Amino acid sequence: MKLYNTLSKQIDEFVPNEPGKVKMYTCGPTVYHYAHIGNIRTYIMEDVLEKFLRFSGYDVTRVMNVTDVGHLSSDGDTGEDKMVAGAKREHKTVMEIAKFYEKAFFDDCAKVNIKYPDIVQPATGCIDEFITLVGGLIDKGFGYIAGGNVYFDTSKVKDYYALSGHSTDELMVGVRDDVDEDTNKRNKADFVLWFTKSKFEDQELKWDSPWGLGYPGWHIECSGISMKYLGEHLDIHCGGVDNIFPHHTNEIAQSEAYLGHKWCNYWFHVQHLNDETGKMSKSKGAILTVSVLKEKGYDPLAYRLFCLQSHYRKPLNFSYDALDNASAAYDKLVKRVAKLENGGDVDAAKVDEYRQKFIEKVGMDLNTSLGLTVLYDALKDSVSDATKRAIVGELDKVLSLGLLEAAEKLNSAPAPEIDDADKWITDLIAERAAAKKNKDYARADAIRASLAEKGITLIDTKDGTTFTKS
Ligand code: AMP
Ligand code: ZN
Repeated sequence: MKLYNTLSKQIDEFVPNEPGKVKMYTCGPTVYHYAHIGNIRTYIMEDVLEKFLRFSGYDVTRVMNVTDVGHLSSDGDTGEDKMVAGAKREHKTVMEIAKFYEKAFFDDCAKVNIKYPDIVQPATGCIDEFITLVGGLIDKGFGYIAGGNVYFDTSKVKDYYALSGHSTDELMVGVRDDVDEDTNKRNKADFVLWFTKSKFEDQELKWDSPWGLGYPGWHIECSGISMKYLGEHLDIHCGGVDNIFPHHTNEIAQSEAYLGHKWCNYWFHVQHLNDETGKMSKSKGAILTVSVLKEKGYDPLAYRLFCLQSHYRKPLNFSYDALDNASAAYDKLVKRVAKLENGGDVDAAKVDEYRQKFIEKVGMDLNTSLGLTVLYDALKDSVSDATKRAIVGELDKVLSLGLLEAAEKLNSAPAPEIDDADKWITDLIAERAAAKKNKDYARADAIRASLAEKGITLIDTKDGTTFTKS
């Protein structure tokens, strides 16, 4: 597979450290609120990547963290601690908030067929690992204590900006959104590894450490959790593009400082989903979730199709019109699959041919829209229905649009109930059909005319007669 690598800034051949095995890490959700459909875009594309690697024969181990503590990176973070604010907003404890939104996140992921990662690790479960890492960084001269907190000294790292491509002159400060100055820092880009003193004093969760009672900084969790489960060498690390700086930049700095060697070879980043106000964001008020889309009558898998139709490295603009188009395309696709006859012989060579085509197309920097084209080509091909069904089943292992299941559901759905108020019309349609069968065309025409007078137009199709009312 070829993939764009944010670190090398080019499309590279993907070669894992150990042949046939992939160690994959994905930054998980910060659980102070629901994940919006922008977050879910990133997780859908990561899910496709994971499934595509498996489809291509790799044995993948995927780890995801859950940020239930430690999303602060320095006292420069403005506003309020989001976990504490979430707990206050809902009159719950921080852990109750975290558990509630973690469950809501994975429930929404399941609705768009995102596979549950092999390992999911909340940050609060790895405090000992973080303390070991921070201690090691101090011992190696990369960590320093100032104003009660432990900081990482970014000036000690060569190529600190290698991932983001920024220059030192740009004086990037390592925080999420807005920035205040943190006067404890030696360098502007330094960030907190461990807090004991913070302006966010009302923390519920604090742990003992060699530097006093406190809590971890934001970036350390992903290095700690990744090393715990995937060891010292990571093949691929994923996230949204906003994670490139400072989060992933700082993960690289501290992990490589601690390990003394290169840590992760490939960096995969998904561009943002935007709405009319710009980047969709959790702190921007009303949060549009997958569940809300479902309540509005959209099939969540139509949203998955919407994401797959465009390339992960291009920003995607969300609008209901665009989603309506994806929904119509999804319904059409399901109907097409539903029309395929069940049973019969499968042409295994053809299935393999389409499998290879799919690998070739999607394998070029995860081009999911070309992957969809391969699926449409198969449906148009002059192969048997059984072969088409087999191809759909194969490709859907990666696309995960639930096509065979949705088609089956459609086929087994009971015929729509006829509104009682319209029964007199359907009775007349049945009488007209019987008249035509008996070659009593005068009666058939009279029925059509009498209905037309009442504003009812009959439409004859090959599947029978329907009607519209004006
Ligand atoms: P968070 O829960 O805020 O830590 O974000 C979870 C994931 O969603 C991260 O990988 C972010 O980079 C990603 N993300 C945040 N906003 C967007 C967006 N508007 N579109 C796509 N991905 C996003
Ligand atoms: Zn992370």
